[in-house]
This record gives sequence, structure tokens and C-alpha cells, in this order.
Amino acid sequence: MDKVAFSIPPVIGEELDAIGDAIARRRLSGDGHYTDLCRQWLEQRLGCARAFLTHSCTGALEMAALLLDLGAGDEVIMPSFTFSSTANAVVLRGAVPVFADVDPTTMNIDVDEIERLVTPRTKAIFVVHYAGRIPDMDRVNAIAARHGIAVVEDAAQSLGSSYKGRPAGTHSALAAISFHETKNIVSGEGGALVINDPQFVARAAILREKGTNRQAFLEGQVDKYTWVDLGSSYLPSEIVAAYLFPQLKATDGITADRLRSWHGYRQALEPAVDRYGITLPAPMDRDVPLNGHIFHFLLPDAERRPAFIAAMKARGSHCGFHYVPLHSAPAGRRFGRAPGGCPVTEDAAARLVRLPLFYGMGEATVARVCADVMSTLPEIFD
Ligand SMILES: *Cc1c(COP(=O)(O)O)cnc(C)c1O
Repeated sequence: MDKVAFSIPPVIGEELDAIGDAIARRRLSGDGHYTDLCRQWLEQRLGCARAFLTHSCTGALEMAALLLDLGAGDEVIMPSFTFSSTANAVVLRGAVPVFADVDPTTMNIDVDEIERLVTPRTKAIFVVHYAGRIPDMDRVNAIAARHGIAVVEDAAQSLGSSYKGRPAGTHSALAAISFHETKNIVSGEGGALVINDPQFVARAAILREKGTNRQAFLEGQVDKYTWVDLGSSYLPSEIVAAYLFPQLKATDGITADRLRSWHGYRQALEPAVDRYGITLPAPMDRDVPLNGHIFHFLLPDAERRPAFIAAMKARGSHCGFHYVPLHSAPAGRRFGRAPGGCPVTEDAAARLVRLPLFYGMGEATVARVCADVMSTLPEIFD
């Protein structure tokens, strides 16, 4: 039987024409025609004060850390169950990531943990939308407001999702989106910094352009441009933006397609909950629509996960898993803290399996992977 890949980057069909057009325009560095189209699309879609295209979500998170003036002694609360970039952005500024435990049904930060971990040094909370699911931002924002701390959304995985009628990336002052080829909407490498608090817009433009006021110069606000602040180069090339624009326009179709696969998996695997003791992701809440970014579930134990994944692979269905909890990773132990530990994260992360999920995989492939799961579970766990 054919193999099922774990992930395949989406192609809409208009990308090559857009790249050809970008080349014909003879302007390939950042902030040209296609970067502007992507910016406008994001700003309209999100209703944010400003969206800056970046070369990665990692870069956008670094910009957020710079904009918040994070520095030595500052603490930033974030889930331990996330990608290294969430923590690196903070560590690069000399601040300390303080790792929180997760809710095992969503793998999102356990909001009760935030209150427990706040200290007088806490300067921000970096919230991750795992698998595109937005946690209870009303509660997160209420806690942040009470303690006078900033909130940043690591919305790397959640373009297309929303919470109480408002899209991912609009529930905090600053948010970071990823267009890495493993995400829903892609440009190979790519990202965006979403700014909802207008006070950050002017400085973000400077940070992103090597610490210069080039943007103000291009807009005719100053008559020469120069080095005015610290900064780096966070712009993507026009070639990258040209790939991205047709993808952005296809967001609703890609999201609907992935969600069909997500619901297909959840429904077909329901019988395995009682029969084999697997834990499925929480169902989709009407107030918190998902984007079908990841379908994961938890096996009954961690010891047999390698055998389960190997047996799935032998059947031709390629599964994945992640993350090594950051508080237990070598760099996390060096740079971060986890007061009280993250026992739920440790347990769940070790049992987690991700099933193949990509745009256009189709019902038959979903059914085939489910059949492989339902034959592999008894083989390994009975
Ligand atoms: C993918 C991802 C990132 C990094 O995105 P890049 O665009 O590859 O830099 C950061 N945080 C989370 C939660 C991610 O899933």
C-alpha cells in the first residue's frame, strides 16, 4: 500500500506566476509589491494596527522581546510544551523563561499556573496556541492586567483559528505568526509580527530595518535615513512574499480542508478511548474554532511509543511526536526555571503522537491512517 507522508507543504498553483511577476518587477529586497499585498491581507483579516512580514516566526518573537524591552532579571511565563523559539526570544535578551505546565486535553498552558508563577520580576506571558487552539485569552488577559504584565501570542500555528469571534493574533499587544513549510499557510521560511497596540508600530519598523528610520524616510517623514536604535534584519525577500500571497488568499479553503481531516480523525478514533486508553484532543468548542493544524493524541504509556510509531511506519503511515519539554531540555535547564516542575507536560509529551495531516490529503487517506491506528493499537497495547 502507498505510504502516507507526515506533512506535505501546500501548493495553490499561483505561486510560480507570482514569483515570476516579482522577478519582472526588478525589486527583490523586502517591503516591495508582494510584501505590501501580504501586509494588507493580514491587516484586513486580523483588523490589527499593523502587520510586519518577517523572515520567520522566530524573528517576529525576537522583535516582540525587543519591543517589550526584556532584559536581565526579567521573567517571562510560557508553557514548557513549545518550540525552542518561544524561549530563545526571551533568553537572547538576557531574561529568564519561567516554564508553566499544560492542560493535557489541549496541551496549552494551564492558565491556573500563571497566577502561581507570577513574581515581582514577571514582565510578560508568552502564550502558545498549540495545534491552532487558542487558550482562554480572557482569563490570561485578566491575570496579566491585574499584575501589569504584557501578553504575547505565539500564534505560529494558529492562523485561521479564532477565539470568541476574533482571530488568532489579536488577543494581545503583540503576536507572532509562522509561514514555515510545516504550518498551514507557508512560504518555506516566513512569519509576521502582528501589532495590536499602536504604541509599538514606529519602533517595530526601526528594529526590523537594521535599527534605521528607513521606513520613515520612504514615507517622506524624514529627509535622510540613519541608524537611530538597535535592530536587525527581519524582512523577507520579495520572492518569499510572492510565494506567500496566493497562500494567504487560500487560507479559508486550506483551513476547511485540514479541519475536515481533523474531525475525521477525532470521530474515527473515538472508540479507541475506552478500548485502549488513548486520550484524544478536546473536541472543538464553538467559541474557539480550530484550524486543523495538528491532530495529536496521547498513548496509554510512554514506554511503547517508539514501538507504536515504528509499527505505524511499517504499515506506511508516518507519524510524528514533539516536544521535548523545554524545562527538561539542556538549554532550558541552563537558561530557564520551572518552579514546582511541569509533571503534566512531562507525562503527556512522552505519550503524544501526531498523525499525518496536510492540505488535500482527502477522506480516503484519513480513513486509511485511522485503520492503521486501529490495527496498531491492539498489536502494541493488548
Ligand atoms: C513553528 C513554530 C515556531 C517557529 O516558527 P518559524 O517560522 O520556523 O521561526 C515558533 N513557535 C511555535 C509554537 C511553532 O510551532
